[in-house]
Amino acid sequence: MVQWSPFVVSLKRVYPWVQLAGHAGNFQAGEDGRLLKRYCETEQLCLQKLMEDILRPFVPGYHGVVRRDEQDFNLMDDLLADFDSPSIMDCKMGTRTYLEEELRKARERPRLRKDMYEKMVAVDPGAPTEQERAQKAILKPRYMQWRETLSSTATLGFRIEGIKRADGTCNTNFKKTKDRAQVMQALGDFVGGDIQILKLYLERLKELRSVLEESQFFRTHEVVGSSLLFVHDASGKAHVWMIDFGKTVPLPSPVTLDHRTPWTEGNHEDGYLWGLDNLIDVLGTMLPP
Ligand code: ATP
Ligand code: MG
Ligand code: MG
Repeated sequence: MVQWSPFVVSLKRVYPWVQLAGHAGNFQAGEDGRLLKRYCETEQLCLQKLMEDILRPFVPGYHGVVRRDEQDFNLMDDLLADFDSPSIMDCKMGTRTYLEEELRKARERPRLRKDMYEKMVAVDPGAPTEQERAQKAILKPRYMQWRETLSSTATLGFRIEGIKRADGTCNTNFKKTKDRAQVMQALGDFVGGDIQILKLYLERLKELRSVLEESQFFRTHEVVGSSLLFVHDASGKAHVWMIDFGKTVPLPSPVTLDHRTPWTEGNHEDGYLWGLDNLIDVLGTMLPP
C-alpha cells in the first residue's frame, strides 16, 4: 500500500510570461497560473457569457475582477502555464478589425490623428494622399482600412500579429505579411516544420470551427480584433484558444451573424469564420499528401 504524505506541496513553477500584442502595461502576472489583464467591461461581459457557452473549452477560464495598485483587472487563466518553453503565435481573426460603431463615431466627430499618419508613413511613405500629407494627419477609419489592405486581414480574413519561438526568437513584424505564400512561410517557421504539431493544430481548429458554428454566443456577437492564440512545446502538446474580447459586442436583437457573409456597412459581419476556413485551408495544404 502506498503511504501518502499528509502534506500537499505545491510547487510554483517560474516561467517567463510572453506577450505578443497590446500595450506592455496591460498585463500583470497573477498567482496559480493566472493572469491579470487591464479591466475592460466589454471583455468582462464576453468572458462571463463565454463561461456559460459551449465555447468555454476554447477560451481562458475567467475568474472575475481583481483590484491591484488602484487598478481593476480581469483575472483569467494564463494559457502558457502548462507548457515548457512554449512557441506562441497570435493570429488576429476577421476581415475587419474595427467595430461598425467605431466607424460611425469616427465619422460623427472626425479627429485627425498625427500618430496614425506617422505610422502609415513609416510603413509606406507613398500611402498618404496629398491632403493627408499637408495635414500630416489622417482620420482613424482611413488608417484602419488602409492597414487591413497591407496584411492578409482583407484577403484571407486573418493576420499574424506575432510569433515567439521556443528558441527565444520573436517576430512581431508581420504588418506586410499578406500573400498566401508569405503566410505559409511564417506558419511553417512557427511549427519548425513539425508535421505532428501541424496536424494537432489543424484538428483543434476544425473542432473549434464546428463548435463556433453551434455557439449561441458566437451567433449573437460581432467579434472584432479577437485573436487565436497558438501554443505548443517540445513535449508535443499543441493548443489553440480564442483571446482578446475587448471589441466583441452583442448584436442588436434579433440580428445574428454567420461570420462568412462579406461585410457591407450595417450588416455587422466580421468575416471570422471565413478567415478560419482560410486558415484551416492554408494549414491543410502544408501537410504532405
Ligand atoms: P490588442 O488589442 O492590441 O491585441 P490587448 O491589450 O487587448 O492587445 P491581448 O490581445 O488580449 O491584449 O493579449 C496580448 C498578448 O498577451 C497576446 O498576444 C498573448 O501573447 C498574451 N495573452 C493574452 N491573454 C493571454 C492568456 N490568457 N494567456 C496567455 N497569454 C495571453
Ligand atoms: Mg489582441
Ligand atoms: Mg485587444
